[in-house]
Amino acid sequence: MTARVLDGKTLAEEIRRDLAIEVAELVQGGVQPGLAVVIVGDDPASRVYVASKGKACVEAGMHSETIRLPASATEAELLAVVDRLNADPTIHGFLVQLPLPKHISSERVLLRINPAKDVDGFHPMNVGRLSVGDRTAFRPATPFGVQQMLIRSGLETKGAHAVIIGRSNIVGKPMASLLVQDTPGGNCTVTICHSRSRDLPAIARLADILVVAIGKPEFVTPDMVKPGAIVIDVGINRVTDSSVAKGYRIVGDVAYGPVAAVAGAITLVPGGVGRMTI
Ligand code: NAD
Repeated sequence: MTARVLDGKTLAEEIRRDLAIEVAELVQGGVQPGLAVVIVGDDPASRVYVASKGKACVEAGMHSETIRLPASATEAELLAVVDRLNADPTIHGFLVQLPLPKHISSERVLLRINPAKDVDGFHPMNVGRLSVGDRTAFRPATPFGVQQMLIRSGLETKGAHAVIIGRSNIVGKPMASLLVQDTPGGNCTVTICHSRSRDLPAIARLADILVVAIGKPEFVTPDMVKPGAIVIDVGINRVTDSSVAKGYRIVGDVAYGPVAAVAGAITLVPGGVGRMTI
């Protein structure tokens, strides 16, 4: 079997087209949606990601603002920026790019964001709203992107056993919250695995939908995949590769080639979930 490739690039373009229409309607009604992104420090991956978000905003017709603080910025300085954005009527939503430098508490910063503007959905108020099935809650971008990928690819989730490998607050846990709800793209039986799970390969093999978000290059091998399963690779890992000019390449948490020979559908890395997240 050769797996169907779930193409994040095409699906993301489709979403952006839909979004641009909604934004145009709002602008016609006198409101231009505004999104701000706050980035602290010089992490190259975060910088690229933040720049892509800003560009996508402008292309969709939205007002975009990027606030860059140096890595030496204090927590008080960052909280002052959060307070300003909370109060700014031209900004309807904003996010603080993670990870933050070690000397800043992400927990305190996330708690300070007005839940009504918390587009990343990381404030405990929005985490709770998502878990009780409130459809108006902000949903974290990466798992929501995965769910959209399943829905827009016409893949049935109802009744499926979804196994999620990874229990982070950013991906694994909200992914479970989304897939278990009684909504389109939900109604799964959900199992979450993590670094302490016993006999993980046996659990993974039970999955109709396998979502992997652990940050370990090519961790998932074909023996962990049920033939025909849908495999969603969230991982983004840089591995050394002297055969290419830049000296590295990006791989996911799934051994793509061998797993694609077993799976029914699979995402690319890059070009898969990452596109949906932006
Ligand atoms: P994290 O480091 O916060 O969490 C990793 C999780 O993996 C932990 O819950 C841990 O228990 C689990 N884990 C680690 N080793 C394991 C093992 N051997 N077996 C089972 N579970 C194990 O990571 P995160 O923020 O959720 O990110 C995970 C990966 O997804 C990273 O590669 C990250 O770069 C990527 N990511 C991609 C996107 C995107 O847009 N595509 C967004 C966020 C994160």
